[in-house]
Amino acid sequence: MARSDYEMVAGLEIHAELKTKTKMYCACKTDFGAEPNTQICPVCLGLPGTLPVLNEKAIDFAVAAGLAMDCSIREISKQDRKNYYYPDLPKAYQISQYDLPLCYDGVVLIETPEGEKKIGITRIHIEEDAGKLLNEGITGTLIDYNRGGVPLIEIVSEPDLRSIEETKIYFETVKTILRYIGVSDCKMEEGSLRCDINVSVRRKGDPKLGTRCELKNMNSFTQAVRAMEYEMNRQIDLIESGEKVIQETRRFIPEKNRTESMRTKEESQDYRYFPEPDIMPIVVPRDKIEKIRNTLPELPKAKKEKYIKEYQLTEYDANLLTEYIKVATYFERAIQKVKTPKTVANMIISDFYSRFTKEEEKETFCVPIEAEDLGELVSLIEAGEISKNIAKNVLTKMWDTGKKAKEVIANEGLKSMDSDDELMQVVTKILDEQPQSVADYKAGRERAIKALMGGIMKETRGSANPEKVNKLLLDALSKR
Ligand code: ADP
Ligand code: MG
Ligand code: ZN
Repeated sequence: MARSDYEMVAGLEIHAELKTKTKMYCACKTDFGAEPNTQICPVCLGLPGTLPVLNEKAIDFAVAAGLAMDCSIREISKQDRKNYYYPDLPKAYQISQYDLPLCYDGVVLIETPEGEKKIGITRIHIEEDAGKLLNEGITGTLIDYNRGGVPLIEIVSEPDLRSIEETKIYFETVKTILRYIGVSDCKMEEGSLRCDINVSVRRKGDPKLGTRCELKNMNSFTQAVRAMEYEMNRQIDLIESGEKVIQETRRFIPEKNRTESMRTKEESQDYRYFPEPDIMPIVVPRDKIEKIRNTLPELPKAKKEKYIKEYQLTEYDANLLTEYIKVATYFERAIQKVKTPKTVANMIISDFYSRFTKEEEKETFCVPIEAEDLGELVSLIEAGEISKNIAKNVLTKMWDTGKKAKEVIANEGLKSMDSDDELMQVVTKILDEQPQSVADYKAGRERAIKALMGGIMKETRGSANPEKVNKLLLDALSKR
């Protein structure tokens, strides 16, 4: 059979570091990029005799993530020890959750080119991060324990993804949601978002799932795409040649552009999970859950729909404005008093974004113009006080000086010339100055009107309303 007769099936395990100021079980800071081993203490180093104290904020964040992904929240859950020995884990166990995850049975809606699709969320549980092994450019290995004990959530999806494209969309959707609700900064390049991808293949139409392989710790999505492509072909080739796919954990080797086996199921360790005896059960009462639900912002999907329906934006514009919550909040503040939200959208997307050099600037969205002031500028266009062209200049000045629109317009004399008397004076002046153009026009050369218009616009420094000028000009010419 041809490769196109097969389909991919994938399920993701996404790890996101929570944005708490301190670690999961101690008061150490969680700042990224600190000098190695400066954010550690006896608790997160797992020294004997220490006891963990659970960070309540981490639970709140995890519950928020669960609610944003439509999960049920367990009012009473617990933590479990996952035992394994590795140098990045000084306690030789990770505190995680085994059979009673905090959140379960959720849904994430994704928008695929074929329409909306539901991706099931099996569970979201909390756990602590491990330290980091450093071995690049040195002989031997060094260990940085700063990351050890940073709170994580693991979001496990159902095997509902059917293509690389869908997997990418799902991953991006989860990332946007987590950023929106402010529980994780989701920076793959800093390791605060990581992902294991489980991939299997089956003949299209086959109701049974194939045997999966788990691709470990993808740290960029470009890499993940290459890993999935390779893995899919590898599994199809195995099946086509009559062999079996073995369930195993594999890693992607970027230099070789291929995946390699790390361990098979038989070799996989038994973690000997057991309930963590040093921490009380996690209790999240119903009213607390409702309180967290009420603090959740409107999610990107709902915003997008509102922008398209109520503000008449295109899907493209709505996507750009809802990608980061700060942009969306700014936009919504700016349109409070305007009649044409589209004009505000254009200014953000074309004028603001073109001033940014990095994608991060969209996320932080530090702009020198207050949202209300941008709104005022647009209201001035709508009221015919300034033309769209002039508005561009005003916007630049506002950006550079931090002044408000009205101040810039007054200072620069940019107010649109709108009164008939004033405009007529200019029209008369230009007609007097350009008798040849008048004569040409009278002789039937209509193009001459362009030269006259040009003269008037120049004289008014572009502040005249072109439609009005055109009308007055034709009027004046008919009387000559
Ligand atoms: P493990 O502990 O082995 O990693 P988990 O239950 O934590 O198991 O995660 C299993 C992941 O694999 C889930 O995301 C699930 O959707 C996915 N998965 C399960 N079966 C398949 C399959 N046949 N093909 C692809 N993905 C699968
Ligand atoms: Mg796994
Ligand atoms: Zn500590």
